Amino acid sequence: MEAVEAEVLRNEDVGGDNFALTVESPFPDARPGQFVQVALDVDGARVVRHYTISSPYPDDELEFTVEIDPEGELSPRLQELEPGDVVEVDGPYGRSYLEDEDAVTVLSGGPGVGPALAIAERAVDREGEAAVVYEDDEPAHRSRLEDVEAEGCHLEILSPDDDLVSAVDAAVEEVGGQVFVYGFSEFVDRALDAVDAVETQDDTDDEPKVERFD
Ligand SMILES: Cc1cc2nc3c(=O)[nH]c(=O)nc-3n(C[C@H](O)[C@H](O)[C@H](O)COP(=O)(O)OP(=O)(O)OC[C@H]3O[C@@H](n4cnc5c(N)ncnc54)[C@H](O)[C@@H]3O)c2cc1C
Repeated sequence: MEAVEAEVLRNEDVGGDNFALTVESPFPDARPGQFVQVALDVDGARVVRHYTISSPYPDDELEFTVEIDPEGELSPRLQELEPGDVVEVDGPYGRSYLEDEDAVTVLSGGPGVGPALAIAERAVDREGEAAVVYEDDEPAHRSRLEDVEAEGCHLEILSPDDDLVSAVDAAVEEVGGQVFVYGFSEFVDRALDAVDAVETQDDTDDEPKVERFD
């Protein structure tokens, strides 16, 4: 697909080192958990990075939850965008997205909370079952997490010192279904080890759907 322009609709601080950037969606068939290539001119050079969709219904608006890397080339620039500014988007890409699973368990680290929320929100909205395990030293999206928990999602928020295996065990026991994993590899590897450790074969469907952010 060719990159197309998308207007920025909102840009909000969502806690921790994260912001949620919402742009018009040129992709009517996009699904939560897919990722999009985002490009911006930075000092005359086109800089391109990937961001995962964090809106439950991305056919109209596309939200990305972005962790700011103060030393990074693109994320600090995206944080400065205002409504009416324009980015280029291309996609959507990726195979690890929500299809029509009735039960979902989403393991997320850092900005992986974005797709975790989008998937859980859409699953409970459809009267399915959802569990979210979210590890971060400074959690983001607190109010959306509280809301989805109130709608029946099993929620475990952990700091990096907490026991990931126990949290994954509780989520799989409570909900199971299709397991998704989103985040940077350091988290993804530990999450996949935790899935193996709780021997989920009897409780979950298929292989985990995984997207690594690096
Ligand atoms: C499939 C996919 C999905 C993703 N989804 C998300 C998402 O939903 N949310 C999210 O926040 N991120 C996501 N990412 C990560 C995102 O694409 C960016 O990599 C991230 O935002 C950092 O980009 P940046 O331009 O700010 O930093 P970069 O410029 O890429 O720099 C990253 C770090 O590397 C260091 N660095 C850069 N160049 C060098 C060098 N030459 N030598 C040594 N160090 C260097 C920088 O100091 C910085 O600390 C995803 C990545 C992938 C592949």
